[in-house]
Amino acid sequence: MQKTVDNLFPSVRIVLIETSHPGNIGAAARAMKNMGLTRLVLVNPKDFPDDTAFRRAASAVDVVSSAIVVDTLDEAIAGCQLVLGTSARDRRIPWPMLEPRACGEKVVAEQAAGAEIAIIFGRESRGLKNEELQKCHFHINIPTGEAYSSLNLAMAVQVLCYEVLQASLAAKPEVSELEIDKREVDNWDMAYATSDSVEHLFQHLEETLVQVEFHDPENPRQLLTRLRRMFNRIRLDEMEVNILRGFLTSVNKLGRPQRRQESEGNNT
Ligand code: SAH
Repeated sequence: MQKTVDNLFPSVRIVLIETSHPGNIGAAARAMKNMGLTRLVLVNPKDFPDDTAFRRAASAVDVVSSAIVVDTLDEAIAGCQLVLGTSARDRRIPWPMLEPRACGEKVVAEQAAGAEIAIIFGRESRGLKNEELQKCHFHINIPTGEAYSSLNLAMAVQVLCYEVLQASLAAKPEVSELEIDKREVDNWDMAYATSDSVEHLFQHLEETLVQVEFHDPENPRQLLTRLRRMFNRIRLDEMEVNILRGFLTSVNKLGRPQRRQESEGNNT
C-alpha cells in the first residue's frame, strides 16, 4: 500500500511552469516526496495528465494526482508572501540572490512564522522569463561547474527540496540564525503582502505613472523593472500596500481636474 504523504511543509508549494516532458513532472514529484514536500502546482503543462508522469513518480503518484493545474503564474503564487525563483542564468538587471542553503533556511524560518511560500521552476527549453523572475523576492542559483550550468528540471527540484529538508532537520531554535529571521517576522505588526496584492499595486502604479506622464510605455527604460525590484527588496506588508494604493488613488483623482484647468488655460 502507498505510504501516506507526510506533511512537513504544508505552506510550501513547488511551482513548475509550462513543463514539456511529463516525465520531469513525475521525477519532480518523487524528488519532493523524498524530501517531505507534497504541494505541486503546474502552470499550463504541455502533456498532463500523462502516464509517463505517474510512472516516473514511482511511490509519489499521490503528489502527482493531487497536483493543481492552473493557467498562469499569478494564479499559482496567489496568497504567497515569499516567492523564490530558480534560474541557471544571470539577468541584465540583477535581483537579490540566495544560495540554495540559505534558501532552505529562509523557507523553514518563514514557514515557522506563518508565511505561505512558492518556489518556482522554469521550462526545460527556456527557463523562466524575465517577467516571471521579476515576481520573485529572490533568485536562487544552484552553483555548478562552469562548463554546464543548466540542471535537469527534476534535479533542480531535488536540490532545493533537499536544502529545505536539511534546514528543517538542522533547525535549533536557541542558537540558529533561523530564529533571528523568525523573530524578525514575528515581531512585525502586519502580515507581509501576498503576491496578488503586490501585483495589483504594481498595475496601479504603472497606470498612474503613465497618467502623470512619468512613464512612457513606448520608451520604458527598465523603469518598472527597477521599481519592482525595489518593492520586492523592501517586502511590503499589507498595510503599506493599502497606503500606497490610497496614495495612488489620490494622485489619479488629482491628475484629471488639473489637466482640465491646464487646457482651459491654454484656450484663453
Ligand atoms: N535552458 C534553460 C534552463 C532550463 S532548466 C535556461 O537557459 O534557463 C529547467 C529549470 O530548472 C530552470 O528554469 C530552473 O528553474 C531550474 N534550474 C536548472 N539549472 C539551475 C541552476 N543551476 N540553478 C537554479 N535553477 C536551475
